[in-house]
Amino acid sequence: MTNDANQIEIVPIPAFSDNYMWAIVDTKTGRTLIFDPGEAHPVIDFLEKNKLTLAAILITHHHHDHTGGITALISRYPIPVIGPLNDGVTSLTKKVNEPDEITITNFPLTFSVLAIPGHTKGHIAYYAKGMLFCGDTLFAGGCGRLFEGTAAQLYHSLQKIAALPDDTKIYCAHEYTVKNLQFAALVEPENSEIQSRLQKVKTLRENNLPTLPSLLSEEMATNPFLRCHQTNVKSSLENHAGKQLADKIEIFAELRQWKDRF
Ligand SMILES: [Zn+2]
Repeated sequence: MTNDANQIEIVPIPAFSDNYMWAIVDTKTGRTLIFDPGEAHPVIDFLEKNKLTLAAILITHHHHDHTGGITALISRYPIPVIGPLNDGVTSLTKKVNEPDEITITNFPLTFSVLAIPGHTKGHIAYYAKGMLFCGDTLFAGGCGRLFEGTAAQLYHSLQKIAALPDDTKIYCAHEYTVKNLQFAALVEPENSEIQSRLQKVKTLRENNLPTLPSLLSEEMATNPFLRCHQTNVKSSLENHAGKQLADKIEIFAELRQWKDRF
């Protein structure tokens, strides 16, 4: 089965105060995939309003704001629920991990599973040509908190994402972009690309539009969590920490702690 980007549409369904549940719609058949349904009702409303059929649910990690709608959805639609092998998600019909490839019956995309631990111990992402559904690991302008893994694990997970093609679209699960880029501007005050991106996303939010998806190339230029190898990021973190930092993982750990208090 080949990836056919021409017949799909990707739509963010808002949930809670700042989550997005991404829907991929096959416009030829109406068959639809939902990622991380934290709530069921917005998904049901979306499907009914647009006369779509739910084909499968895909889960990135176990947190309730990504899984809370599963039970209500599967009691209504008898569909597969695909999710991480090692993250303690109940109600899965198929457990997957890297390097699994996922096909869904009568759906024109094949996904590769990436293991990206750190935010949780078994967090995964789904990659199909040109698009990455990465839950709470990479955000636009930032990254997820370290709840279960180590700084080294999350650093390596983000490096795995950084190695994908530059034009990969990043479909993350929260609208945190403005605050993330305000922090990025504090870390790299001299980075003009951060300033111009911040203005762009503020305008989007003032018009109640999502700032997502972003492009991996934009993240490489403006997201400090992907820029620990830059000398200006290193010196900014060393100034903040008041000590020398030995390697990229120490820089990343200090950056994550700084952001936690921001
Ligand atoms: Zn989470």
